[in-house]
Amino acid sequence: MPHKDPAAAKEYFRQYHIKNRERILAASKAYREANPEKVAAGKKKCYDRIKNDPEFKRKMSERQKRLWRENPEHMKAIARRSYQKNRKKILAKNKIRSNTPERKAREALNRAVKNGNIPRAKTLECSICGKGATQYHHPNYDKSEWLNVVPVCGFCHNDLHGNQN
Ligand SMILES: [Zn+2]
Ligand SMILES: [Zn+2]
Repeated sequence: MPHKDPAAAKEYFRQYHIKNRERILAASKAYREANPEKVAAGKKKCYDRIKNDPEFKRKMSERQKRLWRENPEHMKAIARRSYQKNRKKILAKNKIRSNTPERKAREALNRAVKNGNIPRAKTLECSICGKGATQYHHPNYDKSEWLNVVPVCGFCHNDLHGNQN
Protein backbone atom coordinates (compact mmCIF):
# COMPACT_ATOMS: atom_id res chain seq x y z
CA MET A 1 0.00 0.00 0.00
CA PRO A 2 2.05 2.96 -1.25
CA HIS A 3 1.81 6.30 0.48
CA LYS A 4 2.90 9.60 -1.01
CA ASP A 5 2.78 11.33 2.34
CA PRO A 6 5.73 10.18 4.48
CA ALA A 7 3.83 10.87 7.69
CA ALA A 8 0.96 8.70 6.50
CA ALA A 9 3.39 6.00 5.48
CA LYS A 10 5.03 6.11 8.88
CA GLU A 11 1.64 5.89 10.58
CA TYR A 12 0.66 3.00 8.33
CA PHE A 13 3.76 1.06 9.28
CA ARG A 14 3.24 1.93 12.92
CA GLN A 15 -0.29 0.56 12.81
CA TYR A 16 0.92 -2.49 10.90
CA HIS A 17 3.53 -3.07 13.56
CA ILE A 18 1.02 -2.69 16.39
CA LYS A 19 -1.43 -5.08 14.73
CA ASN A 20 1.20 -7.70 13.99
CA ARG A 21 3.37 -7.11 17.01
CA GLU A 22 3.33 -10.68 18.31
CA ARG A 23 4.04 -12.15 14.91
CA ILE A 24 6.87 -9.71 14.18
CA LEU A 25 8.43 -10.25 17.59
CA ALA A 26 8.20 -14.03 17.22
CA ALA A 27 9.77 -13.89 13.76
CA SER A 28 12.58 -11.65 14.93
CA LYS A 29 13.21 -13.86 17.96
CA ALA A 30 13.32 -16.95 15.74
CA TYR A 31 15.75 -15.19 13.43
CA ARG A 32 17.98 -14.21 16.36
CA GLU A 33 17.98 -17.73 17.70
CA ALA A 34 18.73 -19.23 14.31
CA ASN A 35 21.50 -16.75 13.50
CA PRO A 36 23.32 -15.87 16.71
CA GLU A 37 26.58 -15.17 14.87
CA LYS A 38 24.85 -12.71 12.53
CA VAL A 39 23.25 -10.94 15.48
CA ALA A 40 26.58 -10.74 17.29
CA ALA A 41 28.29 -9.45 14.14
CA GLY A 42 25.60 -6.80 13.70
CA LYS A 43 25.96 -5.71 17.32
CA LYS A 44 29.71 -5.56 17.02
CA LYS A 45 29.43 -3.50 13.86
CA CYS A 46 27.19 -1.05 15.67
CA TYR A 47 29.51 -0.84 18.70
CA ASP A 48 32.55 -0.35 16.44
CA ARG A 49 30.78 2.42 14.59
CA ILE A 50 29.83 4.12 17.87
CA LYS A 51 33.48 3.92 18.88
CA ASN A 52 34.89 5.21 15.60
CA ASP A 53 32.27 7.55 14.25
CA PRO A 54 31.50 10.51 16.55
CA GLU A 55 28.65 11.67 14.34
CA PHE A 56 27.01 8.24 14.50
CA LYS A 57 27.59 8.11 18.24
CA ARG A 58 25.89 11.47 18.63
CA LYS A 59 22.95 10.33 16.52
CA MET A 60 22.54 7.14 18.53
CA SER A 61 22.62 8.99 21.81
CA GLU A 62 20.12 11.57 20.48
CA ARG A 63 17.89 8.69 19.42
CA GLN A 64 18.21 7.07 22.82
CA LYS A 65 17.35 10.36 24.54
CA ARG A 66 14.35 10.87 22.26
CA LEU A 67 13.07 7.36 22.95
CA TRP A 68 13.34 7.98 26.70
CA ARG A 69 11.54 11.28 26.36
CA GLU A 70 8.76 9.91 24.18
CA ASN A 71 8.15 6.66 25.95
CA PRO A 72 9.81 6.48 29.36
CA GLU A 73 7.66 3.58 30.58
CA HIS A 74 8.56 1.45 27.60
CA MET A 75 12.27 2.28 27.93
CA LYS A 76 12.19 1.55 31.66
CA ALA A 77 10.64 -1.83 30.91
CA ILE A 78 13.40 -2.59 28.39
CA ALA A 79 16.10 -1.50 30.83
CA ARG A 80 14.52 -3.64 33.56
CA ARG A 81 14.32 -6.68 31.28
CA SER A 82 17.91 -6.26 30.20
CA TYR A 83 18.98 -5.90 33.84
CA GLN A 84 17.09 -9.07 34.79
CA LYS A 85 18.65 -10.91 31.89
CA ASN A 86 22.19 -9.74 32.69
CA ARG A 87 21.78 -9.53 36.45
CA LYS A 88 24.27 -12.27 37.25
CA LYS A 89 26.89 -10.79 34.94
CA ILE A 90 26.39 -7.27 36.32
CA LEU A 91 26.55 -8.45 39.91
CA ALA A 92 29.66 -10.51 39.22
CA LYS A 93 31.30 -7.51 37.61
CA ASN A 94 30.42 -5.26 40.56
CA LYS A 95 31.76 -7.88 42.92
CA ILE A 96 35.06 -7.99 41.09
CA ARG A 97 35.16 -4.21 41.15
CA SER A 98 34.43 -4.10 44.87
CA ASN A 99 37.33 -6.48 45.47
CA THR A 100 39.95 -4.39 43.74
CA PRO A 101 43.11 -3.81 45.79
CA GLU A 102 42.45 -0.06 45.59
CA ARG A 103 39.12 -0.48 47.23
CA LYS A 104 40.37 -2.82 49.92
CA ALA A 105 43.22 -0.44 50.71
CA ARG A 106 40.83 2.51 50.92
CA GLU A 107 38.46 0.64 53.20
CA ALA A 108 41.27 -0.41 55.53
CA LEU A 109 42.48 3.19 55.65
CA ASN A 110 38.99 4.52 56.35
CA ARG A 111 38.64 2.08 59.23
CA ALA A 112 41.98 3.18 60.67
CA VAL A 113 40.97 6.85 60.45
CA LYS A 114 37.64 6.10 62.04
CA ASN A 115 39.32 4.24 64.91
CA GLY A 116 41.71 7.13 65.42
CA ASN A 117 44.81 5.14 64.46
CA ILE A 118 45.55 7.54 61.63
CA PRO A 119 44.81 11.30 61.73
CA ARG A 120 42.23 12.70 59.36
CA ALA A 121 43.88 13.90 56.14
CA LYS A 122 42.23 17.29 56.62
CA THR A 123 44.32 17.90 59.73
CA LEU A 124 47.53 17.50 57.69
CA GLU A 125 49.39 19.28 54.90
CA CYS A 126 49.67 18.04 51.34
CA SER A 127 53.04 16.34 51.17
CA ILE A 128 53.53 17.62 47.62
CA CYS A 129 52.45 21.27 47.55
CA GLY A 130 52.13 22.01 51.26
CA LYS A 131 48.55 23.27 51.13
CA GLY A 132 45.85 21.67 53.22
CA ALA A 133 45.49 17.96 52.51
CA THR A 134 42.04 16.53 51.88
CA GLN A 135 42.79 12.88 51.27
CA TYR A 136 45.40 10.15 51.39
CA HIS A 137 47.29 8.62 48.53
CA HIS A 138 48.31 4.97 48.54
CA PRO A 139 51.73 4.62 46.90
CA ASN A 140 51.23 0.86 47.07
CA TYR A 141 48.10 -1.26 47.38
CA ASP A 142 49.78 -4.32 48.92
CA LYS A 143 48.11 -5.45 52.10
CA SER A 144 51.18 -4.62 54.23
CA GLU A 145 51.05 -1.06 52.81
CA TRP A 146 47.36 -0.38 53.39
CA LEU A 147 48.10 2.13 56.14
CA ASN A 148 51.29 3.45 54.60
CA VAL A 149 49.74 6.53 53.06
CA VAL A 150 50.67 10.06 52.04
CA PRO A 151 48.43 13.05 52.78
CA VAL A 152 47.68 15.02 49.62
CA CYS A 153 45.32 17.69 48.36
CA GLY A 154 42.82 16.90 45.61
CA PHE A 155 44.87 18.62 42.88
CA CYS A 156 48.09 16.81 43.64
CA HIS A 157 46.23 13.55 44.02
CA ASN A 158 44.73 13.92 40.55
CA ASP A 159 48.20 14.71 39.26
CA LEU A 160 49.61 11.64 40.92
CA HIS A 161 47.11 9.47 39.11
CA GLY A 162 47.63 11.25 35.83
CA ASN A 163 44.10 12.60 35.58
CA GLN A 164 43.34 15.61 33.42
CA ASN A 165 41.15 17.57 35.81
ZN1 LIG B 1 48.85 19.42 46.95
ZN1 LIG C 1 46.21 7.98 45.18
